[in-house]
Parts: sequence; structure tokens; C-alpha cells
Amino acid sequence: MKVGIIGAGVGGLGAAIRFAKAGHEVTVFEANHHAGGKINSLTRGAYRWDMGPSVFTGPEYIRELYDLCEEDFNTFKFQKLEQSFRYFYRDGTRFSLSADPQQLVNTLSEELGENPLTIQRYLQKCGKNYKAIAPLFIESSLHRWRHLLNRNLFKALSRIPQYKLGKTMHGENKALFKNPKTTQLFNRYATYNGSSPYKAPAMLNMIQHLELNEGVFLPKNGMVQIAHSLLELAQKQGVQFQFGEKVRRIILDDNNVRGLKTDQREANCDVVVSNMDVLHTYNKLLEDFNKPPKKILNQERSSSAIVFYWGIKKSFSELGVHNMFFADDYEAEFKSLFESRTLYEDPSVYIHITSKEISADAPPGKENWFAMINAPVNTGQDWNSYRTNAKAAILKRMSKELNCAIAPLIEEEFVMDAPFIEKHYSGAMGSIYGNSSNNKYAAFYRHSNFSKDIKGLYFVGVTVHPGGGIPLALNSAKIAYDCFKEDFS
Ligand SMILES: Cc1cc2nc3c(=O)[nH]c(=O)nc-3n(C[C@H](O)[C@H](O)[C@H](O)COP(=O)(O)OP(=O)(O)OC[C@H]3O[C@@H](n4cnc5c(N)ncnc54)[C@H](O)[C@@H]3O)c2cc1C
Repeated sequence: MKVGIIGAGVGGLGAAIRFAKAGHEVTVFEANHHAGGKINSLTRGAYRWDMGPSVFTGPEYIRELYDLCEEDFNTFKFQKLEQSFRYFYRDGTRFSLSADPQQLVNTLSEELGENPLTIQRYLQKCGKNYKAIAPLFIESSLHRWRHLLNRNLFKALSRIPQYKLGKTMHGENKALFKNPKTTQLFNRYATYNGSSPYKAPAMLNMIQHLELNEGVFLPKNGMVQIAHSLLELAQKQGVQFQFGEKVRRIILDDNNVRGLKTDQREANCDVVVSNMDVLHTYNKLLEDFNKPPKKILNQERSSSAIVFYWGIKKSFSELGVHNMFFADDYEAEFKSLFESRTLYEDPSVYIHITSKEISADAPPGKENWFAMINAPVNTGQDWNSYRTNAKAAILKRMSKELNCAIAPLIEEEFVMDAPFIEKHYSGAMGSIYGNSSNNKYAAFYRHSNFSKDIKGLYFVGVTVHPGGGIPLALNSAKIAYDCFKEDFS
């Protein structure tokens, strides 16, 4: 069959590989001139940055694609980081979390006064919940009974009391931990799918399983290598790529997919897979379709971000590891993001710096800072002043933490914000993950990986089921392909 894929993000690449491996004729139409979507790379002067994702978890989902294609996964070079994150609090508390689970427990009990058993049990529970839920909620369609009615359902249901269904992520964490800093540390994982820990269900406290129990990894040449490797794998399966070719319309004939219209051609397709934000897929590519799933499309959007890519002409031994989190008042921050949709004036800051052992992304004695804060989605705010305010807030915080004026050390700069995400990656309103998970039923309000009304139309990427992050986007491709097989066999 002829398969047209809209977008070469990680979801689109995963789908392209699966369809092509099964013998279909696959063409990927990508508006940009690179594969990987938000997994993008920026070079300015002597510095290089990964522009989007920087925390790589779940490499087994990439391995799955190599194994499927009978290619050697050892050619995908990556390493496990010895420390997942370094934490900095306003009162001077600083510590790093080791990849070794016992050391991690020791650190949290020594630094934050938690009972080691509480931490140990909590992390074990996150792992068990993840393993019980993943086969149903992450690796299968939530929207087809035949995917749900099997042994996995009973396994998942048997753990219902562990999901703390009536609580939010924050509610569960606050009840368990003595120290508000520990609560905040675990609350942070809500942002991995662009949600608020004060609203997202406690069940999502399993997000941290991949990072804290399984580890954080980094590909040898930075995150962008994920995009390069998946592109190469797809090309080896015979996938054709049309870069710089934006899809303008999905052509339908009586609610059956017939093809795609781009700026340059009309392509006949039996099947179309959209990796474009699902809201934009309906609003921009299916304008004439009269049955869009309004309830799903009208859900609250996930958060966005402002990221500063700075070339810093100094190296700081205080920073040291790849991922750093500078904590602030989370509750006020999330109120701003989701209730008033304004930028919080004193936000928490995430800094990522590539270490020299992994990738030569900065000259000797210098550092490539990726400095990110959470931001609201774009509803027409003044982003010029947001960028100015965000820069001032981050510089103030970092100058204080490092006891050194940072502004004079910046020799290269680039900024990404919500309008940039909307323009360059087609993320509606600049949201990073589509719908937020800010209510109990959020998982059920994500769009399915197939269209219920249009035969031959499938959806992949972080804006549809199962949700945000590279591992989940790769799973969306697997589920979409499984649904296609059922529909056309
Ligand atoms: C700043 C930032 C930090 C992040 N950090 C992490 C992290 O640490 N770890 C993590 O796992 N995830 C992180 N994410 C989320 C991450 O981006 C996703 O996990 C993943 O890369 C998204 O993949 P996707 O398949 O949804 O596609 P996207 O990356 O959204 O790609 C979609 C592609 O479709 C193309 N497209 C859209 N419309 C059209 C059209 N009409 N015609 C042709 N092409 C089109 C776009 O150009 C784009 O290339 C982060 C995101 C951002 C922005």
C-alpha cells in the first residue's frame, strides 16, 4: 500500500520504519529541512546545542526498531549517565541523584531527612505501577476493546489501590514525604508531559520510573543522534523523504483517505499517518471534514517553554553534571502557567550542559548552556517582554547560585519560545505535548492513534495517545501500525 506520513518527528520516523519494514511504499513529507522535529540541533560560533529533548530515557524503545529491522543496535552509541540530575534549592541545599538506586535513596535521606524505606518503597511502587500500566496504557491502544481485554487488564486492575485515584501527584507526594523539597523533586515529573502536579492524577507518579529506576542516557553525539539514526534506519527500509515540503490538505473521498496535497504535488495514498499536532491536523488539513472530535480537541493544552541557548565563556565546577534543576515556588509557578497563563516572575530553571566526554559541544574551558523555564502556551501575550523578563530572572538566579555575573560571559545566544515552537514544529499554541494531563480522565481525552471516522487515517507523536516524551512518541507509532494491521488485514 502507499503510505504518506506527515512529519519526520520521532513518531513519524517510528511509523515510517514500521510500515516500510512490512513492505509498504512509504513517503515522509516534512515541512522542515531536517528529520527529528523538535529533536533539532543548533550551532552558533564554536558552540552546539540540542534544541529540544535533553533527557533520554527508555532506549529499549529504539532498540525495538533496530531489532525489527534486523540491524545491529550496538551501532547506536549512547551511554548511561552516572547522575540523573543535580538539584539546587534557594537555601543552599545542593545534591546530585545517582543512577545507583541505593545511593539515590541514601542521598535523599541524608540531604532531605526522609526515611530511606519511604523512598525505597515509593520508587518500587513507581516501577511496579509503570510495569503494570505500560502494556495497557503505553504500548496498546486505549481506544480498542480488543487491546484492553486481556491478562494485562487484570494485572493493571489488581493494582488500583496503588494508583491513588482520588489524589493528585502533589497530593500523594505531600502525604508521603516530610520535606517539601522532596515533594517538589517528585512533583517535577508532571512537567515531563507539560502538566501541573497540583492537577495531574497521582497515577502519573510513575513517570519518574524510567529516569530514577532505569536511568538517564545520552547518545554519543548528543540527542540529535536519535534523529540521525532513525532517519538512516528508515532510509535503509526504503522510506522516501521529501524535506521542505509542507502538507496542506489530506484528500478524502467519502471519508476514506485518498492522498495528500503539499505545496508541490498531490500524492495518492491509501493510508496517511499524521505526526502533526492533532489539533492542527483537524483545523488545517481536514478543514472540510465535518465531524472533528471537538471534546478532545478542546481540552486544556500542555505547557510551553522558553529556552535560552547560551555559549558561556567559562566553565563552572559547581555545575558539573548534565542535568540541573534550580527549584523555586512550584505552586505559584503552576498557577501562573495554567490559571492566569502568564509567565511566573521567579521560575524554576532547568539547565543542561553537555559534558566534554560525550560530545565536543563547547570549546575547552567554556560551556554550552541550555537554560529552560516552563512557560504558558501562546494566547497572544507579549513574548518580547516575556523573553526579556525570563532572561533577567534566569541570569539573576544563576549569578547568585554561582557567585559570578553570568551576563558578561554570554558570547552566543539563541532563544526559543512558544511562538517559535508553533511556527517551526507546528505545535498548536506552542504547547509541547498537545493536551495537558490536568485531570483524572486526561488519558481518555487524548486522541486515539487512528481516526474513528476516516478510514486509512492514523495519528502519532506526543499530542496523541499515549502522550509526551520520546519513549511515548515511539510507542504511538507502534500502536498506530498495530491498528492499521487490524483494519486492513
Ligand atoms: C524544549 C523541549 C524540551 C523537551 N525535553 C524533552 C526531554 O528531555 N525528553 C523527552 O523525551 N522529550 C522532551 N521533549 C518533548 C519532545 O519534543 C518529544 O518527546 C518528541 O521529540 C516529539 O516527537 P513528535 O513525534 O511528537 O514530533 P515533533 O518533534 O513534534 O515533530 C513533528 C514534525 O512534523 C512536522 N510537521 C508538522 N506539520 C507538518 C505539515 N503540515 N507538513 C509537513 N510536516 C509537518 C514538523 O515540522 C515536525 O518536524 C521536549 C520538547 C521541547 C520543545
